[in-house]
Amino acid sequence: MKYDHLIVRYGELTLKGSNRKKFVNQLKTNVTRALKPLDGFHIKGKRDRMYIELFEEADIDEIIHRLSKVYGIKSISPVLKTEKNDQAMADVAVQLAQSFDKGSTFKIDVKRSDKSYPKDTYELQREIGGAVLKNVEGLTVDVRQPQHEIRVEVRLDAIYIYVEVIQGSGGLPVGTGGKTLLMLSGGIDSPVAGMEVMKRGVTIEAIHFHSPPFTSEKAKEKVIELTRIMSERVGPIKLHIVPFTDLQKQINKSVHPRYTMTSTRRLMMRVADQLVHKIGALGIVNGENLGQVASQTLNSMYAINHVTSTPVLRPLLTLDKEDIVKKAKEIGTFEVSIQPYEDCCTIFTPKNPVTEPDFNKVMEYESVFNFDSMVDDAVENIETIVVDKNYKSEKDKSTDALMEDLF
Ligand code: ATP
Ligand code: MG
Repeated sequence: MKYDHLIVRYGELTLKGSNRKKFVNQLKTNVTRALKPLDGFHIKGKRDRMYIELFEEADIDEIIHRLSKVYGIKSISPVLKTEKNDQAMADVAVQLAQSFDKGSTFKIDVKRSDKSYPKDTYELQREIGGAVLKNVEGLTVDVRQPQHEIRVEVRLDAIYIYVEVIQGSGGLPVGTGGKTLLMLSGGIDSPVAGMEVMKRGVTIEAIHFHSPPFTSEKAKEKVIELTRIMSERVGPIKLHIVPFTDLQKQINKSVHPRYTMTSTRRLMMRVADQLVHKIGALGIVNGENLGQVASQTLNSMYAINHVTSTPVLRPLLTLDKEDIVKKAKEIGTFEVSIQPYEDCCTIFTPKNPVTEPDFNKVMEYESVFNFDSMVDDAVENIETIVVDKNYKSEKDKSTDALMEDLF
């Protein structure tokens, strides 16, 4: 079957009255990017849905696969567009029904939004159903639980006929909800947290704290790879890598061993907060999960959160670990996350960090040393890279590619 159009149905954005135009335009931009460099199609973003016209050379399966990963799309249907007459409709329905297995059941479902069309819904259903029964052998009608449903939409501009409705990712188009800074470790949780907020339309830049030589180049590569995987779905992502070694050493010198974890998190948060203001973001996102580990009790969160008035979004806060793992597998980051490279936090983690830090003690330990200028230095020396789906690290680049970069 050679379909000539795709209908792309919007997610929740149909609900958003006056913002709809902005949402539709953003979705169109995101779809255009997701389909690059494929060709053989033309995108038309309408108020209520998007139509993608398909030409001869279009790779329809690949196009649908890519669309199914774009946030803001509820469902996709490959359709045949026909002229507005009874015969054309019946012909197309017959053509579609020819691919149904012998002995299977079907039903015709007509939606007639063009109320001026001379025949009503019921008449059309009966006539088209009749044509299918007459021309395709071995099918029967079942209006309650059909194996196949031929859907016919009689609209003002044309008639669209289709069978399949393919599930999209739902959510809202990335780019319609402001910008946040994602604290990205090499673990399982933070990439999932990032995707969760992007599914709500928010864009991210990512920040990673790196402590060479305590954490290796491999650990950094891992975070770059996680960012690359995320970017496959949402487009290029800026990754800010913070040199964190000096701060971490200082924390270990100044703070009681049982409190170094808390202070490390607080200083990470302070650096992140400065960067938030620099890049014009409006929130910090992390992968924290209530009660999961020592640094994630409510007590700890209170102490860590105290350094900032920026909203800290924790989309995984109440999820079970197995649900987070499932999501990580869906977005494709799980296999990378479980690679065993050390994290800058785990490497300095004391044997028994305090799980319920006493806030007064936190303040007391940190008052011994003034961290302000070290925080400023860390922010000053951030290395920023833009990671897109084709990103290759320096070490993976062939000499040719490196030469290309030079010119
Ligand atoms: P994750 O799987 O995301 O590492 P986790 O369950 O291992 O989460 P922690 O290691 O306690 O939890 O980290 C909690 C959150 O702090 C992480 O989800 C992440 O947002 C942030 N974080 C931890 N380490 C780093 C780091 N090196 N760079 C940036 N953010 C970090
Ligand atoms: Mg971790």
